[in-house]
Amino acid sequence: MLDLASLTELLSQPRKIVITTHHKPDGDAMGSSLGLYNYFIQQGHHTRVITPTDYPDFLTWMPGNGEVIIYTENTELSARLIADAELIFCVDFNSLTRINDMGVLVGNSGACKVMIDHHLEPEDFDDYRHWDINACAAAQLVYTFITDKLQNKALINKDVATCLYTGIMTDSASFRLPNTTSAVHRIVADLIDAGANNSRIHELVYNSASENRLRFLGHCLANCLEILPEYNTAIIAVNKNDIAMFNVNTGDTEGIVNYALSIARIHLAAFIVERADKVKISLRSKAEFPANEICKKYFNGGGHRNAAGGQSDEPLEATIAKFKSILPEYKTLLIQ
Ligand code: 5GP
Ligand code: MN
Repeated sequence: MLDLASLTELLSQPRKIVITTHHKPDGDAMGSSLGLYNYFIQQGHHTRVITPTDYPDFLTWMPGNGEVIIYTENTELSARLIADAELIFCVDFNSLTRINDMGVLVGNSGACKVMIDHHLEPEDFDDYRHWDINACAAAQLVYTFITDKLQNKALINKDVATCLYTGIMTDSASFRLPNTTSAVHRIVADLIDAGANNSRIHELVYNSASENRLRFLGHCLANCLEILPEYNTAIIAVNKNDIAMFNVNTGDTEGIVNYALSIARIHLAAFIVERADKVKISLRSKAEFPANEICKKYFNGGGHRNAAGGQSDEPLEATIAKFKSILPEYKTLLIQ
């Protein structure tokens, strides 16, 4: 493990830095990574963000996005940058399995690894850790890393602020989740003062859907939603045909599960989607219900208490049946 003084010393001269985040990056993954990127480039560090996979169009407007390398589209360059890096920042994830094939490269690299994350149960692959499960977003932790650990609030410029605001806004479900504390609102106020245009960011992220996405959402709600009243649970399951019919792209499925959770009395909502190689499950829950426990125990995944995900190698129908078969175990919690 590296102490803060050694890390600060390391960062006191220009370094080769790689920033990476979890596969299928979301708003917090991209916001926290690019926030950190826009911070480091001001200090002359040679910095690249490498994502394990592509990410949705509604996240491609952030400052620095043009410099992002997508591993699956540029494996050789990515591998070279990872091997040559002096520091690798692992942002918004804490297990190397979350970065797919890049995990082996990062694991084998001799770089100093810094984890900035807010998920449960971090794996032990890092040299320095800025980790807090109470943080509402990794972007919040990038902010406190810069301001408290590196004591460099002056470098939170408009670009850094814009990215970090996006991360906090998306991971806190627009400042709604219980972990959106007064401290978070103070950080967000600082980000607006530093130049983040909150109203425009909201427009860019939430009002930029494609026509397909909206029609697909309508299809999910009208034709794929199943309510299990005895368990206060809702399931939206979509198969390969649904995906093909609406030409669903990366990110088009994001957030659909929340519509199921918005129904009164529903405590647990599942979005189960048949992908090319596996079936992916997204769970959202209200209050104390531990969605992450189900994902960890039964679907080779994890996440936060109220937002978690996992996968299954079984066919779609079998996965739906498996999910339903788990509910009796949680009945007391679900009917409270
Ligand atoms: P989503 O449902 O949006 O894919 O994921 C919600 C949250 O669950 C993510 O922010 C992430 O923390 C977690 N998550 C999703 N999929 C996985 C997975 O396969 N493994 C783990 N450990 N966490 C996941
Ligand atoms: Mn996050």
